[in-house]
Amino acid sequence: MKYIFTLALLTFSVFAIAQTNQKIYDIIDDISEERIRQDVKTLTEFGTRNTFSDTVSTTRGIGAARRWIKNEFETISKSCDNCLNVFYQKDFVTKEGNRRVPHDAWVVNVVAIQKGTKYPNRYIIMSGDIDSRASDTMDFTTDAPGANDNASGMAGAIEAARVLSKYKFESSIIYVGLSGEEQGLFGGAGLAKYAQDKGWDIIGILNNDMIGNIEGVDGVIDNRTFRIFSEPVPPNETERQRNARRFYGGEVDGISRQLARYVHKTVKTYMPEMNPMMIYRLDRFGRGGHHRPFNDLGFPGIRIMEAHENYTQQHQDIRTENGINYGDTFEHVNFGYAKKLIAVNAINMASLASAPPAPTTVSIGGIVEPSVKLKWNAIDGAKGYKIYWRDTTSPTWDHSRYVENTTEFTLEGIVIDNFFFGIASVDEEGFESVVVFPNEIMR
Ligand SMILES: [Zn+2]
Repeated sequence: MKYIFTLALLTFSVFAIAQTNQKIYDIIDDISEERIRQDVKTLTEFGTRNTFSDTVSTTRGIGAARRWIKNEFETISKSCDNCLNVFYQKDFVTKEGNRRVPHDAWVVNVVAIQKGTKYPNRYIIMSGDIDSRASDTMDFTTDAPGANDNASGMAGAIEAARVLSKYKFESSIIYVGLSGEEQGLFGGAGLAKYAQDKGWDIIGILNNDMIGNIEGVDGVIDNRTFRIFSEPVPPNETERQRNARRFYGGEVDGISRQLARYVHKTVKTYMPEMNPMMIYRLDRFGRGGHHRPFNDLGFPGIRIMEAHENYTQQHQDIRTENGINYGDTFEHVNFGYAKKLIAVNAINMASLASAPPAPTTVSIGGIVEPSVKLKWNAIDGAKGYKIYWRDTTSPTWDHSRYVENTTEFTLEGIVIDNFFFGIASVDEEGFESVVVFPNEIMR
């Protein structure tokens, strides 16, 4: 009986790619609401974390905050046999030429890198922000607890490091606290430039900015819905790419959008109680976030955040006015919700860092033919590939076919004109890369 059972299991593992992975469920369960609460509390107790606040005090200001964050990452690293490389990455910003910079200062990010075992130069990044602000962004002395904006994201990066550092991944994971967000996305710009100079192969950045508020300013309460912002196509594409899109499609299929779809799909698979909203724009209307400087340099990046914002609790001095309590204080954060959004990050980083790289070249053909042909470059470490397609009006990759031992395939009876197509790499455990939209035409 036992023998038969083992045989059946073996047969299964040989002929089927697992649809879900237990490791991912374990990661969700490991994220601790209590630790997130403690970390957000600690961060708010630095009084203000304005980028231009005190750097010398051990109890108040951004200097004390970043030293505490660095120390947290180092403590995590100690318990995983020094698996994290923790360091400051910094750039000097000057008052001159910057409208929202009150005085010259170093903008200091705290970076923790968990090196990948197989692809150390491939990185998936999770960011939160160290800095906070009062009503006046130039005011670097008034209390600005920034509990939701953005101690929630910062605590998220620390908590994800605690949980994921217990595992080994093929690609590298970066947990980072960025600074200078409120005065002009300086920290993100600094790290994006650093990544470009180092030649990092970036799978994407998951920028977490405000992940703990469940009650909107209009009274809507919702602890299931969250937003994934992604821009349609990279801003630094060439004129040739832009022109090609007119004839071959791709207006809603840029690299950041594929990352957004990946996150959406992972959440639907592993956290079906959540309601991810893909928002087809770079960020909120006229507002910014730290994924943008990465997008500016052509890296994929998305913003993950709450669905319902409360504007009386953002960028506000703590005060009571007309019966309304203003200020971004600790008690407004919902830690159960923050835990869910941090799990969203953790499972996507675990999946992406476990998956083989995506194909780099995907060719498509089938003009005036009844079937579509696809061809892609072989990926070392891929057990197979998933061909995805969808109706041109659908936001998600709704149809797929798995193939092995080949790098080309014809989908019989599927007409190229009526769908969009893409290819993902798949490993033996079923972990998939991001989908790649065709970037070459077969004639
Ligand atoms: Zn803000």
